[in-house]
Order: sequence, then C-alpha cells, then structure tokens
Amino acid sequence: MSCHTCREALSARLDGEPSGVPADELDRHLAACPGCTAWAAAAERVTRRARLAPAPPVPDLTVAILGALPRELPGARSAARARLADTALRLVLLAVGVAQAALSWPVLVSGAGAMSAPVHMARESGAWNLAVAAAFLAVAAGPRLAAGALPFLGSFTALLLPVTVADLQAGHVHADRALAHLLLVAGVVLVATLAWRGRRGRPLPAVGDRRVAA
Ligand SMILES: [Zn+2]
Repeated sequence: MSCHTCREALSARLDGEPSGVPADELDRHLAACPGCTAWAAAAERVTRRARLAPAPPVPDLTVAILGALPRELPGARSAARARLADTALRLVLLAVGVAQAALSWPVLVSGAGAMSAPVHMARESGAWNLAVAAAFLAVAAGPRLAAGALPFLGSFTALLLPVTVADLQAGHVHADRALAHLLLVAGVVLVATLAWRGRRGRPLPAVGDRRVAA
C-alpha cells in the first residue's frame, strides 16, 4: 500500500466513511510507516479540535424576528370573515326553519288545510312541511349535515316548483299558498350554500389514511 492510499483511507475513516481498503492492510502499513503514523496522529488531533471548537457566536434575533411578524397570521382575517358569514347563513336558516314550522304545525294538528283539502291530505302535507322545517333547523344547528340533507330537500323543491307554477297558471292554487313555497326555496338555497362552503374548507383524507379506517 502506498502512503497516499494509506492517508486517504485514514482520512475517510476519521470522517466515519468506508476506508476502501482492508483494515488489516491499513494497520500493517501504519505499523511499518512512521511517516503515516505521525500523519494519522496529527490528522486525529485536527479532527478532534475542529469537532470540539465552540460554535461561532450568533446574535439573538428573537425580538427582531417576533417584531417583524405580521400581527395576524395570513388568512386569519379571511377565516374570521368566513366564520361570520357561516354564522349569518345559519341564523337566517334558523329563521326560515322556524317560519316553515309555524306554517305547517297548525295544519298538521288541526287537519284544516288550505284549499279545503281532505283532513288526511292536509295532515300529510303538514307532516311533510314540518319535516322540511326540521331539516332546516338541524342544518342550522349542525352545518355539517347540509350536504346530507340536500338530496331530499333539493329534489322536493325541484319537483314542487314547476308544478306550483303550472298550478298557479291554471288557477289550482292561491297565490298566498304558492308564496309560502318561497320559504322552502330560501331554505334550500341556504342549505346548499352551507354545504358548498363546508366542502371547500375540508381537505379530503388521503387514500389509505389509517385515521380514516380507525
Ligand atoms: Zn506511509
């Protein structure tokens, strides 16, 4: 082994890397070569000194960094605005739900429906309308239910609207009865808006995420 190879191998060993030569061959050369032995001792001293040397002083920038931070985290203001908008939507939905319940409850209890409907038909439509009110109130209390309530509320509204318009034109329904359906439309629009807003802010869990299975 040449002195050059020996010293490269020693340097690698000091750095914790593979020396690239058999250890016994290296030790045999060291035992026989005073030059490399001295070089190894000096290299070891230098390495140890470099590792133990104190770190250069670093100025404490804590105060400067904290002072340079914005007062609000980016997005905090828009998040607060979004929460406020959600609260407003839920309050309006609450009012719509209460109004819807107030319209349907007397019909359900008395069976005296509008337009001289038979008692059971009036009660049945009262039950439907009260169920819609319950859905509005439930979504106002727990907006995460909005998306789940949409298939029923949306299809009910989509079916009722065109037949109401047709009945209005044919004179089968009074305008005040038809106007009451605007409450339904308002409620469904609010529920759909809450569902859309809730969906936007919620990251979907990754496929294979263990927390999903747990
Ligand atoms: Zn040597």
